[in-house]
Amino acid sequence: MKTKYTYGPVPSRRLGRSLGVDLIPFKICSYDCIYCQLGRTTNKTIKLKEYFPIDEILRDVKQRLTEISRPDYITLAGSGEPTLHSGIDEIIRGIKKITDIPVAVLTNGSLFWMDKVRESVLGADLIIPSLDAGDEKTFRHVNRPHRDISFEKMVDGLCSLRKSYSGQIWLEVFLVDGVTAIEGEVLKIKTHVDRILPDHVQLNTAVRTPVESFVDRVTEEKMEEIAGIFGSSCEIIADYSGVHNLDEFTASREDVLELLKRRPCSIEDISAGLNIHRNETIKYVEELLDKNLIGMERRDDRLLYFTR
Ligand code: SF4
Repeated sequence: MKTKYTYGPVPSRRLGRSLGVDLIPFKICSYDCIYCQLGRTTNKTIKLKEYFPIDEILRDVKQRLTEISRPDYITLAGSGEPTLHSGIDEIIRGIKKITDIPVAVLTNGSLFWMDKVRESVLGADLIIPSLDAGDEKTFRHVNRPHRDISFEKMVDGLCSLRKSYSGQIWLEVFLVDGVTAIEGEVLKIKTHVDRILPDHVQLNTAVRTPVESFVDRVTEEKMEEIAGIFGSSCEIIADYSGVHNLDEFTASREDVLELLKRRPCSIEDISAGLNIHRNETIKYVEELLDKNLIGMERRDDRLLYFTR
């Protein structure tokens, strides 16, 4: 039985200091994106279930909030797709009883065609869904969805969410160089964005290590050009410059570095060794990679990190 469902607070360019809440075991998801930073999906499903006990999650959130200084957001996310948790509405309501810190849902947005899923997130203060493709073929290539999710169904779900949800929707568009970061594809994506009507469009690319080695990040210049196509509500969120410089994050980064001095480790090894959540580990590792303090290599389908 899992005992810790919260992680962080982790630094987030969009959400400031964000306390993560993991609602789903690794790695259960309705997608298996080529750019995923968590690893390959081992259970691709659209089955809604109480994957972790609601009361235990809420107890953990309550306890964690007594141990840390006030985060800017409590973010429901984790090791897979959080809207697969059948009790997400109860979890949001429960958190709202504990604190007035805004609750964000970080989701791939693939399940909002189901009335139950759409209704279950209406209590959140912010929803951050994704749209990474402009048609069925590219959707299948980039997101590798569960067979019961068609592109139209997914986009219709996002449109319905917009109609029923009065809070903020920030739509993340993850671009892959040579695949979706080309004008024709971007224009197709924009057609659907214009139907969904999010409050903001946020462009991201593979600044973190993707699961598939053939995924290439888009250059900053090209991202700027693409942002221009989406218009004034669009911003680029790739890159975290500056947010890791706070003392509380530096301490954990040092621990990761110390561990890697002893032996090369995968993300899983570091998480287990330091008892920190996978998502938190990824943030520190990426920061160390950016600073060129560590290196990375693939060995037998595993990504290993080592000190330089
Ligand atoms: S939706 Fe998110 S967790 Fe699921 S495969 Fe894609 S990037 Fe990974």
